[in-house]
Parts: sequence; C-alpha cells; structure tokens
Amino acid sequence: MTQLRLVPLECGWLSTAASTVVAGLNGNVDLPIPSWLVVHPSGQTLLFDTGLHTDLVDGVAARYPLMARQFESRFSTSDVVSARLENVDVDPSSVDKIVFSHLHFDHCGGTALVPNAQIIVQRSEWQSGHHSKLIEYEVYKPDDFDLGHDVLQIEGQHDVFGDGSVLCLPTPGHTAGHQSLRVNLASGPVILTGDCVYWKEVLEKMLLPPFGFDHEMQLRSMGYLKALRDEQGCKLLFGHDEAQWADLDRSSKGLT
Ligand SMILES: [Zn+2]
Repeated sequence: MTQLRLVPLECGWLSTAASTVVAGLNGNVDLPIPSWLVVHPSGQTLLFDTGLHTDLVDGVAARYPLMARQFESRFSTSDVVSARLENVDVDPSSVDKIVFSHLHFDHCGGTALVPNAQIIVQRSEWQSGHHSKLIEYEVYKPDDFDLGHDVLQIEGQHDVFGDGSVLCLPTPGHTAGHQSLRVNLASGPVILTGDCVYWKEVLEKMLLPPFGFDHEMQLRSMGYLKALRDEQGCKLLFGHDEAQWADLDRSSKGLT
C-alpha cells in the first residue's frame, strides 16, 4: 500500500505591489501560484486549486483586463496545470477530484485542463462565483470554473475520501466560502491554507487584504489555523509564500 502523498505543482507567478494584497505593506511581492496534487493510497488523485488559465501565457490582460491593472504574470506553457501533472506522470484526464479553496482567478484558471474531475466547493463560494456584480468587477469569472464538471457543493467540514485522511476545513472571510485542506500525511498533518493566509508574516501579525468578504470572519479563520498549528502540530503550507515555496520538495516524490 502506497502512502498518502502531497506534491506541490508550480503553476506560474504573479507579481504586484504588496499593498494590493495586504493592507499597509510597502514594496512589491512575487507570489507563487500553486496547485497541490494529493495522491491517495487507493490510487485516487485530487487537486487543491488549478492555477492560472492558459490565456495568461500572453499576460494577465489577455483574460482579465481589470486585474491586469494590478497584477503581472510570469507564466509559460510549461506552467499550466496539465503540463505540471504530466511532469509528475499524472494524466490530467485521470484526476478524480478538484477541491477549490475559492474561485478567484489564480486558483481555478486551469480547471478546463482537468476535464473529468468532480469539483468539491463550499456552496456559498459557488453561489458567490455566480453573483453578477462580482463577475462585473472580475472578482469571479464563471468561464474559469463552471464548465460542466460534476460539482459537489458542500457546507462545512467534509471528509473527501471517507477515511479521515483528507478534510475540507471551512476558513471563510477572504471570500464567502473559502476553505483550507487538511492532509494527514504519515509524517504529520499539514494544512493547505489557501488565501486564508498568504504567507507566514501575515499570520504572525494578523494582517488582512484591503478587500475581502468579511475581515472579522477572516481573522477568526486565521486564528483557527494558528491554533491547529500551535495546539495540534499541524504544519501550515501557505497560499502564496515565496520563501516557504522555495524550501518545498517539489519533486514527484513530494511530501509523505
Ligand atoms: Zn490567491
């Protein structure tokens, strides 16, 4: 029996003024855009988020003119999620499940390239993603994620494989239905925080984005993840942490 395995896939980079994503910071930030592959001992595969859309090979403006005012992309055809999967010997059409942290463009752009997966998303996030005002402001683009996949809308915590190995943990605030993913590896539990926590410093100082669904709610979610780290020894893998990303083993061997 093979072990539960977590493989980080690098699906490009975005750069922006730090204050675009965290209120009050100076300078610029480079944000890795991860998709996380989970290989279950049964052989089933899961992706947590799908990275950037192929169109962004030609720049952010090629798909999101409003977002292009603030974000620049560094993204090539070898960074699209299907290429990253093939690189670690996984056929994109064989991936069983996609769990979305949330439906912002840097988390669901590669969904069309993973055609046969069941999508697992919080119901409130799926509903937000279809809100006309939010679509108008490019907060969400249904063409990125609403593509005819089987969609399982969940409410609250969810045991993905029914054996306690991989759990969706609601961490709302950044968006209405944001969630994190707990993966109980043999080496210890890890939590993929998604954008509840962009990077380490943000959690130490409890910093917030200048935007978001509900700041108080996000602070509670951040506190919840901090407690899981400090009281249960969960290792947190952050949503867009350049320093942590550089230290991760991103070979197909991954984390076990
Ligand atoms: Zn993000």
